[in-house]
Amino acid sequence: MCNALKPQLPIHIQAPQTWMCMDDKVIHNKMRINCDVQISNRKLPSLNLSNKRNGTRSSLGIGRLPGSKADVTSLFIQLCTAQNKLGSKYKVSGNIEAVFTKFVAEGKFTIRFREPAHDLCVKADPVLAKSFLQTLKLGIQNKDIDKLHLSNLAPVKQSQVEKPKTKLVIGSRREYPITTTFPYSLESLKINDVQLNRIENRILKLKRLHSLNLNNNLIKELPSAMSEMHCLTELHLSLNNITHISHQLFEGRLSHTLQLLDLSNNKMEYLPHTLGKLHNLISLKIGENFLQKLPVSLGKLTRLKYLMASNNKLVELPASIRHLKVDTLDVFGNPFSSRLGLVRNNIVGVPCLKEIASAYCVKRRLQPTAADIPATLVEYLQAWMKCLCGRICYESHILACISLNLKLVASALTIGNAFQTSAPALATLCSQKCFDKFAKL
Ligand SMILES: [Zn+2]
Repeated sequence: MCNALKPQLPIHIQAPQTWMCMDDKVIHNKMRINCDVQISNRKLPSLNLSNKRNGTRSSLGIGRLPGSKADVTSLFIQLCTAQNKLGSKYKVSGNIEAVFTKFVAEGKFTIRFREPAHDLCVKADPVLAKSFLQTLKLGIQNKDIDKLHLSNLAPVKQSQVEKPKTKLVIGSRREYPITTTFPYSLESLKINDVQLNRIENRILKLKRLHSLNLNNNLIKELPSAMSEMHCLTELHLSLNNITHISHQLFEGRLSHTLQLLDLSNNKMEYLPHTLGKLHNLISLKIGENFLQKLPVSLGKLTRLKYLMASNNKLVELPASIRHLKVDTLDVFGNPFSSRLGLVRNNIVGVPCLKEIASAYCVKRRLQPTAADIPATLVEYLQAWMKCLCGRICYESHILACISLNLKLVASALTIGNAFQTSAPALATLCSQKCFDKFAKL
């Protein structure tokens, strides 16, 4: 705590006419915020007692008693908790020694009272925190108090002092909310066995959701808007009817946040090439589908540790996975029937300048954006492939089906019988020399 401001407080936010919750449901129209408050009694240390107490879910209001004079002398800050819904009242006039606002951008501030010698350490939504302080400032300055949206200091309801719900499990259709909203504060949402056939917008708008589990439903398609979910790290979609995934899904915010993707037991025939943009993916479960091939970009998922792709129709693997080091690779129950040998020779004498320049950018880890070069070039640049020798390729390459030793890729491997360790893999090779070296292994 520092930067004591007395009585200087942030003034750039106007007191709102109406208080809105994050799920757009109106909860108050008077100055009252839901927050965590830790009360620190400054006299306790001198009595050799600890003044450390955990923050309690509280409702903090500024108001005056009905019928009292419209000036600062009638102002109180009211602190209500589940144990004390009537609330403790702190006089404002001449009783605030300091207000600490250094961390108000994070929603934290402290009000130091003279009597009782309490420090209220508050943690709230940053916007609400700033507005609360704005009202407090206007009150202290004794400005237009009758125009401020003050609380009438009435006791609060239980719902105003409950901890925001962070986890919700719905296991039957009866429990699925139809007329009410999902709590805005949810971090984990599990909806299983309810015959859900689409993912609603109100789920996609949950800004704090880390884990979404929709296993065992009837979902056919994933909305593109899902790519902009704020902080989703786990997405479980096993046992649904998904046939198709649009390439946009892996291009938004999701490409930076997603760590676990479970699409097993669906009806997919292919995966989009944008899969390779999920930079932070650790676990990919795509078993029990109808996949015949996997995108070459799979080899770009350098953080991948678990790849489960059993019981598909895979005729080959992308040789790009040779660049991965996974803990577990399960490709059991696939036909792996591709014939080994040359597929296509696209080698040209001298690659075009675009290709040479792009390969140079990738090698040097340069990442020009659409602000630097034309957007089509940015797209081209990202479509690089890596030869097994490590060189970056674009159009000028040889495509060949090689035998890939999967023991080089995974610590634990499940492919077929105990002696089988290799599978046909489609390789992008930079030159005839690399073809001779890798295709003849
Ligand atoms: Zn090469």
